[in-house]
Order: sequence, then C-alpha cells, then structure tokens
Amino acid sequence: MNRSTEEVLSFDEAMEKYDPVLGFEVHVELNTRTKMFDAAPNVFGDEPNTNVTPVSLGLPGVLPVVNRVAVESAIKLGLALGCEIRPVSHFARKNYFYPDTPKNFQTSQYDEPIAENGSVDVELEDGTVFTVEIERAHMEEDAGKLTHMGGAAGRIQGADFSLVDYNRAGVPLIEIVTKPIVGAGTRAPELARVYVALIREIVKNLGISDAKMERGNVRCDANVSLMPKGSATFGTRSETKNVNSLRAVERAVRFEIQRHAAVLDSGGTIVQETRHWHEDTRSTTSGRPKSDADDYRYFPEPDLVPVVTDHEWIERLRAELPEPPAERRKRLKTDWGFSDEEFRDVVNAGVLDEIEQTVSAGAAPAAARKWWMGEIARLANQREVEIAELGVTPQHVVELNGLIDAGKINDKLAKKVLAHVLEGEGSPAEVVERRGLAVVSDDSVLTAAIDDAMAQMPDVVAKVQAGKVQAVGALIGPVMKATRGQADAGRVRELILEKLGVQG
Ligand code: ADP
Ligand code: MG
Repeated sequence: MNRSTEEVLSFDEAMEKYDPVLGFEVHVELNTRTKMFDAAPNVFGDEPNTNVTPVSLGLPGVLPVVNRVAVESAIKLGLALGCEIRPVSHFARKNYFYPDTPKNFQTSQYDEPIAENGSVDVELEDGTVFTVEIERAHMEEDAGKLTHMGGAAGRIQGADFSLVDYNRAGVPLIEIVTKPIVGAGTRAPELARVYVALIREIVKNLGISDAKMERGNVRCDANVSLMPKGSATFGTRSETKNVNSLRAVERAVRFEIQRHAAVLDSGGTIVQETRHWHEDTRSTTSGRPKSDADDYRYFPEPDLVPVVTDHEWIERLRAELPEPPAERRKRLKTDWGFSDEEFRDVVNAGVLDEIEQTVSAGAAPAAARKWWMGEIARLANQREVEIAELGVTPQHVVELNGLIDAGKINDKLAKKVLAHVLEGEGSPAEVVERRGLAVVSDDSVLTAAIDDAMAQMPDVVAKVQAGKVQAVGALIGPVMKATRGQADAGRVRELILEKLGVQG
C-alpha cells in the first residue's frame, strides 16, 4: 500500500476557486512487424531479451535504419489528427542515463516533429463537443522494461536488484502532445478520459497499434495546473506519468486538481515535477523534479538520414485513411435508428465495434444493442473484465438471437445458454442441444403440468371461467416453474384456455 500524505480539497470547492489547465502526452506503441531502427521483432510477451539485435542492445559500431512502415503510421496518425506533415524532419538524440535503454540516449524527434498543429473534436458524455488542439506528434522509440526484485510490489524503493528486458527497447512509438487545454472546468477529468479514449479509437481504427492500454500500447502522461478564477496566467504544472487505464486517467486528473487546490489554498507553491499514479490509494506521489529547462543535450542524430515526405506519398496515405471515428458514428447512428441517448450509451460502454459486427452478421440493430448493453454487459461487470475480453463473439449473439426468433428458446433460457457458452461449452446451438435447454412445446408434457396447476388453484380456474381471462397468468407461472422455464408460455396459455373452453 502506498500511503499518500497529500492534503486534498473537495473537488467542488477546488472548482469554485480555480480553473484547471490540462495537457496530455499520449504515447502510442505501433504494431509494426519490426522495431523502429532495426530488424528485431516487435512482439509482446516473448521470453525476455530474445527480440534483440546489436542495434537494440546499443552495441558499439551499429547503424540504425528507419522503419518505413513506422513512418507511414506516423503520417497517417498525423493526418487523422488534422496535422500538417513536415516535408523534411530529423531524428535527434535525447541524452539521459536510461538503465532500460542501453544506448543512454533515446532516438526521438525534437524541433522537427513529423506532424504538428492539428486538432481533434472530443465528444463528452452528454454530447458536448470540445476541441483539443494538437501541438505535435513525433516519432521515437520505447525503452526496455525494468522489473524490480525484492522490494514491495515491484517498486524500486527497497528492491535488492532489478532485471531488464530489452525486448521493448526500440519498439516504435508516436508521442502526441496537446497544446494547453483551457476551459474544461468541472468536465476536466471526464475530458481527460474521453480524449485518451478517442486517441485509442483513432489508432485502432487506423490499424497502426494494438491499442491495448493494459499492455501499455497507449499510455498517457497527464499535465495539470490551476489558475485562480478570473486569472489567465497558467499555474505550475505537475505531470502524472504513464496512467494505464481510461478510468485511471480520469481519477488522476481529478486527484491532481484537488491536490493542487489544497496546496495553493494554504499559500503553498506547486513544484513542477513528475508524479506517479497509484490505483490502490487512488492518489499520486512525487516522482522527480522536472523543469522546462531540463537539458537533454538534444542534437541531430548523425546516423540517420532525414525523413523526407513528398507530396505524392502523403496523398496516397491520405487516400488510404479509414472513415474518421466521428463520421463513422454518425453513419452507424442513422443506420441503426438509435436515439441520441441509446447511441451515446453504446459509445460510452465501448461496444460500438461489437454491435456493428453483430449487425453485419445478421442481427437486428435493436436486438444487438439489447444483448451487448444488457446481459453481456452485466456478465462483464460481474466478472470485472472489459466486455471485449469476456469471450462472447458477435457470432454467438447472432446465433442466440436466431434461436429466440425461431421460438427454440426464450429470453430466460437464452441467458442460461449464454452462461454455458462462457463456460466454454460451445456455441449457443450446441449448448441448447447438449443441455436440452430448448423450449418445451410438446403438448403431452405441458398438459400434465397444466392439470397440476389447475388442481392446485381452483379459485383461479373459476375466475377465468367467469370471464376474467387475464387471471390465466397465475396458472402459467407454476407451469413455467414445473418445466424449469422451458415451457413455451404462449402455447401453455392456449392449452389452458382451450381446456377451460374460454376464448383468448
Ligand atoms: P514535457 O515532455 O517536458 O512534459 P511536453 O511539451 O512534451 O513537455 O508536454 C507538456 C504538456 O503539458 C503539453 O501537453 C502542454 O500543452 C502541457 N502544458 C504546458 N504548460 C502547462 C500548464 N501550465 N498546465 C497544464 N498543462 C501544461
Ligand atoms: Mg514530453
């Protein structure tokens, strides 16, 4: 447990006194086959230190070569962010002691990022659109991964030694930096989450990254500062590093606003520093001081040629861009005929792709929505996993729905079937078959259960015979129970009314 000693003001009070300013640095790991500057494979989760070459190990005398696909990914991302693409850009060395980067410098871009001056429209949960200006998107390489041993919960403090895995060293990264974001007010934490979600959606849509936050494919550093209400001068910022889930981004921004407010309120000053987010305490702790004048001794990388992006190349990549997420949403909303609220709920639940695939596999949009937003969301929530990771496929939903439409199962049985599908018992049709979960419409089975129910409830029988047809429901219930929910309720009703000689 990482106890925070920081004082915080309530969020509401902080918001009465201060206006937040935000800035995000989002790192996107590309899914290229090989690394940024060498032919080592870019694969997640392999045996440590197997995906390395002399280049990614920084051995003397090696020469890096730029990965063309990574540059194309950067151009596509730049275009999707509405940026200008630089005709000529250079790589630079950012010098620093990096225990996880054996070269002791990171190859990055400095004053000549490949893409700059863009903007994205971020849609908040209530439909408000907030424009976020993009300052730059530049190419660089990832560091290796350190694992600290012997201390508490993998922390460097108190560790006896550290292990280093260079598989990730040299993996292509694009860093997207926003201009300072002013005017979000109380929506600042939400904006942070929705902005990062949009970047994730864009890179996934472009197909340039696996975009899995839990694997660190998309990582956000969140800069926060406060200005007293009425002031237009930015305060000192803190930079919370590597926040690895959407929920954490929102919480980290919220926490930092509350912490800054408490410091400023008591007459203190904010230290410009990096901070670390801790999910367990939902708070940040101090990292290292970081001034704007930190001197990384940037200089042009002498071993790499400049990246020259001719007009034709850019236009070819522009023509290959997929439909932008905002336009795609508009199209799907119209196609599916969902209300504003229904559609927004779908987007916020992150099941747009799933519903789209379910619909294109043959389900009606309303049915697809009902499943993904209802029972499947409930199961994911219960198991505390993302809906996409639950293991239900669009194909399963189409099949389940088809079984309902054909009268083979009812809604209740469908939920049972789904639970068995998740246990790995096969497709919905297979589960129905193997477990005998189909609706019972065999009259002889039903008649026995109906006779029982009528014998037990003569008063209800009398009511129905006296013309109160709606009372028949009281007889259907026990029949459903006796058949473990598998009776065809419509057929049961018909049979009862027939027996009592009453017109339905
Ligand atoms: P560094 O890497 O040193 O943190 P960057 O320029 O890469 O610097 O990123 C800084 C981020 O912080 C940018 O998104 C920028 O817009 C934002 N920012 C700058 N000043 C402030 C401020 N006073 N308050 C909040 N965010 C800020
Ligand atoms: Mg930065």
